[in-house]
Amino acid sequence: MDSINYNEKGVVFDIQRYSINDGPGIRTIVFLKGCPLRCIWCSNPESQRKEKELMFRKILCIHCGLCIKACKQGALDTSNPNFVDRSKCIMCGECANVCPSSALEVKGKLMTVSEVIEELKKDEKYYFSSNGGITLSGGETLMQPEFAKELFRACKARGWHTALETEGYATEEAINKVIPHVDLVLLDIKTNNDEIHKKVTGVSNKLIKKNASIIQNISETIIRVPTIPGVNADEKEFSDIVKFVKTLPNVKELHILPYHNYGEGKYYLLGRDYELSNLKKLDDKYVDKLKTFVESNGLVCQVGG
Ligand code: SF4
Ligand code: SF4
Repeated sequence: MDSINYNEKGVVFDIQRYSINDGPGIRTIVFLKGCPLRCIWCSNPESQRKEKELMFRKILCIHCGLCIKACKQGALDTSNPNFVDRSKCIMCGECANVCPSSALEVKGKLMTVSEVIEELKKDEKYYFSSNGGITLSGGETLMQPEFAKELFRACKARGWHTALETEGYATEEAINKVIPHVDLVLLDIKTNNDEIHKKVTGVSNKLIKKNASIIQNISETIIRVPTIPGVNADEKEFSDIVKFVKTLPNVKELHILPYHNYGEGKYYLLGRDYELSNLKKLDDKYVDKLKTFVESNGLVCQVGG
């Protein structure tokens, strides 16, 4: 087998330590930037574009003006209600470098496998004591297949459990490159209805359904269903998803991820609108009913990641 390429680079936008979601035990989640979908409920809008993005937290700003002096593009102006003119910004990061209160932050950093492993090593003892490990999330993790593959190989070489979150929208080549190095795949299925899928994510679900079938033959796979009122939470839509999952013979588990709006604030930090600002969360009793329905179909069901 080829030696691991520790110099392979990927665009990472966050590394979260001590997670107890997204796989077994205590985990570190490495978030990759870039996604071909645009789910209207996405709680990580900063993950969607592959390019770096500037976040401005108005509430932290102490109005020192240092960033305005540092910006050679003239992109920052207090007379602009959004403060940042994104059409002028070239993401140089100079403003964030001088900001004393971390009100400005550039999301997205090119990192080598070796640099990520150095970060992950800090929590190695927790992985072993809790049967945890690392999870790659996004964005769509399979959009950076070479980096994902080399990172997973490096993790496996240290004996760490590996998990991957994916939307399943990827080439077969990317799947075959990455999934054999993954212990557990957490695969999102949003809806079985292609018209609804196109409307709420921007892409067809045909490729995702085909890939679901391939992925569950390579690695242990849990299906996760972000359950969104008005999209896929009604009984007909939800039961169609369960019917589809039952066509995947190796899938034994389905997780319901009830809608939340935790990502809403981030849309505003990025200068974007959030389409679902008035959407109500699902009633707990209704979620329990969906869970019972999944279990009655012979699948293990969990609410939450
Ligand atoms: S990232 Fe660079 S170009 Fe963009 S606002 Fe900051 S200093 Fe100006
Ligand atoms: S440098 Fe930071 S704190 Fe100062 S004005 Fe700019 S954003 Fe606000």
